[in-house]
Amino acid sequence: MRAYDVVIVGGGLAGCRAALEIARTNEKLSVAAIAKTHPIRSHSVAAQGGIAAVLQNVDPDDSWEAHAFDTVKGSDYLADQDAVEILTRSAPDVVIDLEHMGVLFSRLPDGRVAQRAFGGHSHRRTCYAADKTGHAILHELVNNIRRVGVEIYDEWYAMQLVFEEGEAKGIVMYSLLDGSIEVMPAKALLLATGGYGRVFNTTSNDFASTGDGLAMAALAGIPLEDMEFVQFHPTGLYPAGVLISEAVRGEGAYLINAAGDRFMASYAPQQMELAPRDITSRAITREIRAGRGVHPDGSAGGPCVFLDLRHMGREKIMSRVPFCWEEAHRLAGVDAVEQPIPVRPTAHYSMGGIPVNVDGRVRCGPDGLTAGLFAAGESACVSVHGANRLGSNSLLECAVFGRRVGAEIAHYVGTRKLPEFDEARYRDRARDTVRELLNRSGSTRINALRTAVQDCTSEYCGVFRTAEVMQTGLERLQALEQQYDDVFLDDKGDCWNTELIEALELRNLIVVGKTILASAIARRESRGAHAREDCPKRDDANFLQHTLAYYSPAGIEIGYMPVTIKRFPPKERKY
Ligand SMILES: Cc1cc2nc3c(=O)[nH]c(=O)nc-3n(C[C@H](O)[C@H](O)[C@H](O)COP(=O)(O)OP(=O)(O)OC[C@H]3O[C@@H](n4cnc5c(N)ncnc54)[C@H](O)[C@@H]3O)c2cc1C
Repeated sequence: MRAYDVVIVGGGLAGCRAALEIARTNEKLSVAAIAKTHPIRSHSVAAQGGIAAVLQNVDPDDSWEAHAFDTVKGSDYLADQDAVEILTRSAPDVVIDLEHMGVLFSRLPDGRVAQRAFGGHSHRRTCYAADKTGHAILHELVNNIRRVGVEIYDEWYAMQLVFEEGEAKGIVMYSLLDGSIEVMPAKALLLATGGYGRVFNTTSNDFASTGDGLAMAALAGIPLEDMEFVQFHPTGLYPAGVLISEAVRGEGAYLINAAGDRFMASYAPQQMELAPRDITSRAITREIRAGRGVHPDGSAGGPCVFLDLRHMGREKIMSRVPFCWEEAHRLAGVDAVEQPIPVRPTAHYSMGGIPVNVDGRVRCGPDGLTAGLFAAGESACVSVHGANRLGSNSLLECAVFGRRVGAEIAHYVGTRKLPEFDEARYRDRARDTVRELLNRSGSTRINALRTAVQDCTSEYCGVFRTAEVMQTGLERLQALEQQYDDVFLDDKGDCWNTELIEALELRNLIVVGKTILASAIARRESRGAHAREDCPKRDDANFLQHTLAYYSPAGIEIGYMPVTIKRFPPKERKY
C-alpha cells in the first residue's frame, strides 16, 4: 500500500484536529486518517455538555489561572501542571478557531457564545451547542479535513503497530469491506483511538471504545500511564448506562435519594451537585449501599438514585438539554418534565493512556522518547486530567493538543526519511492471525467471553476498590484470558466480518483490563477516581507520581514517573 508522510489512527476529535493542523502547517504533506468506524461515528460525536474555555462571556471574573487551578485541584494534584497551563491558556483561541470553522455554538441573547456551569469549575466557562456539542464540532472538523485533502480510510481496522527498536514505522490494517490486509508505512504515526469504556459492563461509551490503540502500544512494549484512574460518570441512565450529561446538573438539576433528600449536602456542601465526578460517583454509591437508593418506580432500597429536573420547567429542559430528555424518554420511558430520571455511575472516561510529552511525542519510559510515534486525545496521557478529569476538559484536550501535536508532526516529518522494514513479513503474520482465528474449532462464544471479562473488571475494579478484591479480579481475568484460545467464530467470511473484529477487540479489552487492575493494585492510596477502601488517604510521600505499566504476556511490571508541579502545590481537596 502507498506510504504517507503521516498516518493518523482515529477519526475522532483529536485525530481530525491534528490532521487539519498538519495540512494547515504544510499543505504538501500527505496525510491518511484511518478509522474503524466512519469518522463521524467516532465517540466524540456523542459528547454532549460542552467544551471549557475562559471567554469571560458570562463570567468576566474568570481567568486562565482559575481554570488551571480548578483542573489541577480536580485532578487531585496528579496532573502535570506544564500541560495544564498549555490547555487552559490555549483554550479561548482553539474554541474561537472552531467557531470560525463554522461550529454552531449556542448563543447569549447578544450573540456571543453562551457558557454554562460544569462540575468542579469555579466559573461558568463551558461553551456548548445545546447538549450535542461533540456532534457540532466533529461534523465541521470532518468537512474541513476533506476540504484540505486528508485521505480518509474509513472502516479499516488497525491491527498492529509496526514498531522496531524504539521507532514506529507503519501500521498493519484490515479492511472491513473485503477482508484484505495492508501495511501502510509512514514517517510519523499518530494514535488517536479514543477510550476503553467497553472494558466495563456498564458504560457511556460507544461499542468501538475498546482501547485498541492502548493495547497496540502495550503489545509493542510501550508503557501505559496512570491506567488505574477510570472515571465513573455519576449519572448513567439506569439500567442502560448511557450518559445523562453533567450539563443537566449544570443547568440546575438535583440529585435525590429515596427520602427525597439532596444528599450531596453531606458530601460536598458548597458545590453540591456540581462537585467533581469522582466525589459525586462515590456519594451516589454510598447512598445506594446504605439502602437510600431507589428503584425506578420510586420505592426505596434500589440500585440507583434520582436526577430531578422537574423544577427546571419544560421550556428550559427542552431548549438546554433536549437530547438528555429524549434519551431518558426513549430508553427508560421517563418524561423528565414530570418524573425524575433513575441514574447510577457508569464507566465513562480514561484519565490514563499512552504516555506523551506536551508535544504529543510518545514516551518509552520515564526519560526517553520513541521515534516517529505520537498520541493525542483520550488514548493519550499528557497528563492534564491526573487522577480525575473535570467535565468539558476532554473535548478541550482533543482540540488543544490535537492542534499542537499536528503542528509538531508537520515539522517533525520535514527532516525524516520513510523508515524501511519488511512489510511482507507483517502482512503475512497478520493474515496468519486472521486465518487462525477463522479456522478455530473451539467452543467459547465471543459474546459470552466478552461479557465475562466486562463483568469481571466491573465487579473487581469499580468505584470502590481493595487490594484483595482486585487481586481476585486480576486472577479471574487471567483465567478468562486462557479461554481466548478456545473462541469460535460462526462467520468465516471476508465481507463485513464484525465477529472477527470483535475477536480482535476482545484481545485488546483483556490487555487493557489487566493493565488497569495491575496499576490499581500497586497504587496503595486513594486519589481522585482511585478510591481504595483499604488505603483511604492520599499519600503524597509515596504516590505523588505517575504509574507506568509495562505489559508483557508473562506479567505486568509497574514503574513510576515524577509529576510536574509548578504554581499549585498539593493541598487537601475539599468542595
Ligand atoms: C457520551 C459521552 C459524552 C461526553 N461528553 C463530553 C463533553 O460534553 N465534554 C467533554 O469535554 N468530553 C465529553 N466526553 C469525552 C469526550 O467526548 C472524549 O474523551 C473525546 O471525544 C475523545 O475523542 P478522541 O478523538 O480521543 O476519540 P474518539 O472520538 O473516541 O475517536 C476514536 C477514533 O479511533 C478510531 N479507532 C479506534 N480503534 C481503532 C482501530 N483499531 N483501527 C482504526 N480506527 C480505530 C475510531 O473509529 C474513532 O474514529 C464525552 C464522552 C462520552 C462517551
